[in-house]
Amino acid sequence: MSLTGKIAFVAGASRGIGATVAAALAREGAAVAVAARSEQEGKVPGTIYSVAERITAEGGRALPVVCDVTSEESVENAVTATVSEFGGIDILVANAGVLWLGPIESTPLRRWQLCLNVNLTGVFLVTKAVIPHVRARGGGSLIAITTTGVEMIDHGANAYWVSKAGVERLYLGLAADLKDDNIAVNCLSPSRVVLTEGWQAGGGGLQVPPEMVEPPEAMANAVVRLAMQDASGVTGTIQRSEALTF
Ligand code: NAP
Repeated sequence: MSLTGKIAFVAGASRGIGATVAAALAREGAAVAVAARSEQEGKVPGTIYSVAERITAEGGRALPVVCDVTSEESVENAVTATVSEFGGIDILVANAGVLWLGPIESTPLRRWQLCLNVNLTGVFLVTKAVIPHVRARGGGSLIAITTTGVEMIDHGANAYWVSKAGVERLYLGLAADLKDDNIAVNCLSPSRVVLTEGWQAGGGGLQVPPEMVEPPEAMANAVVRLAMQDASGVTGTIQRSEALTF
């Protein structure tokens, strides 16, 4: 298995793309921290425990860790718990996200702030917390999940795309900062739409034609490929799941 001996921290792993990614990393031999807020089933299915149990039942190694990416204390506790259990961190998948596609004029301030807090500040906090641990391992791979919407300026503006644009700027610059530490820093997004629980709840009832739908496994396979390498490979790039350029 290609990731045997590696340790991955997947933020936003209680359902959707993050849950599929966590399982795929474990199948490749990585020990995986399944990080998110949900400890009990709520309106949307999936908890850190159910995802971790599924991985363990398949013979993988998983640690459920409670983590709210908008809280520095919560992130630090989750990272500390991961390092105590597994001995370090080699791979970060900064996947936690919330969707809000409404136009600016009808966007309540609290929605704007939620998008920026989870999608941008959340990536900042988890990235900041894991960097010393990845550096201590002699290198690794940081992957932030963004969206093709960043490029769609002919489709207007919304809080979600703005927050993801910030992440891409953060990660592209961070790649330069961490090159000498042998840490690869890349962004990855689905090429099309993954019909996850989050998309169904936040997509505003938008109908997605079947040819625009992508299985979550495409993201899982792309994450595994990015996770397998360090800064001697590809770094400072924005990748699309179905069209990797390396
Ligand atoms: P999802 O089904 O809604 O899952 C979102 C995940 O983020 C959940 O595990 C959720 O866990 C977690 N999360 C939300 N707020 C959090 C917080 N404050 N702290 C920690 N975790 C938090 O969404 P998805 O469709 O799988 O999307 C995953 C990522 O892919 C997101 O970043 C999204 O923007 C991006 N993306 C998705 C698509 C798509 O087509 N689906 C396209 C482009 C990009 P808890 O609620 O348990 O905390």
